[in-house]
Amino acid sequence: MLSRGESFITLQGTPPESLLDMVAELAGRPAPDAEPPRPDGRAVATAFYEPSTRTRLGFHIAARALGLDVMPLDVAASSVSKGESLTDTVRVLADYGIAALVLRHPDPESMAVATAAGSCPVINAGNGAGEHPVQTLIDLAMIHRRFGRLTGLNITMTGDILHSRTIHGLIMALSLYDNRVTLVSDPALRLPADLGGLAVRRYAPRLEETDSLTRSILKTTDILYMTRVQTERGSENRPIILTEQVQQALNQDAIVLHPMPRTVELPEWFDSDPRAAYLRRNHVGLTVMTFVLETVLGGKNEND
Ligand code: ASP
Repeated sequence: MLSRGESFITLQGTPPESLLDMVAELAGRPAPDAEPPRPDGRAVATAFYEPSTRTRLGFHIAARALGLDVMPLDVAASSVSKGESLTDTVRVLADYGIAALVLRHPDPESMAVATAAGSCPVINAGNGAGEHPVQTLIDLAMIHRRFGRLTGLNITMTGDILHSRTIHGLIMALSLYDNRVTLVSDPALRLPADLGGLAVRRYAPRLEETDSLTRSILKTTDILYMTRVQTERGSENRPIILTEQVQQALNQDAIVLHPMPRTVELPEWFDSDPRAAYLRRNHVGLTVMTFVLETVLGGKNEND
């Protein structure tokens, strides 16, 4: 849940009405102001134990837009390489007076460790195959921008359903409303049992798992949400690729989203297709990251 002055670890537990209000507000927000008010003069630390382009740089820009300094921890050059624990690293940052910590870490338990260790709010920028609630807000804002609602939609998610934290977060958020979800993946990359159980309970019977992106699925899809196969988490299986046949069969009014980075599954030739909504992700991302940072720092939040 995203609340003023609190860590932002998960969207789970957010009342559907509050989430909808927040997403509708975000979807209509202009890009961050050139000279927004300064909440204070302190620094935001970013600690990325896994690679990142958009989220890491986006939070740097968002922090500066809010008048804060940025303290990026170079994990490889820090004492982490000497065996320093996450608890000790977070304690250093907290003792140095950071206003907030943006953390990405391969361990799903890392957010609990970091919030227990430090005295500042922590923003979950991805905890292993767990969640990436910042990306989930971006995805929801993009869906709301296009459809003006978060309900009554057919969402087809493809790729590494097992490891994709962005799929895990989005599927749980969309299950708060009345949507139909089709998961298309190699059989070895299906929804993990714990999340699958929860999702199935919330969705039944509106959740389907299959291994091929058929014409009939594509014809009724409103949102095609694609992901890459995550080789860094041991996946070696078949990607689901956007081919010319998929392009032709896909509902003309659909949008295609992808959290990025892409590999073979989403070819660059598709970028000129009007349904390639993923191209707008970076702009919406900056709006969302600025909003998240402002909120966890205790700034104004119109949804309170
Ligand atoms: N950037 C997203 C994430 O960090 C998606 C990905 O890596 O495939 O989860």
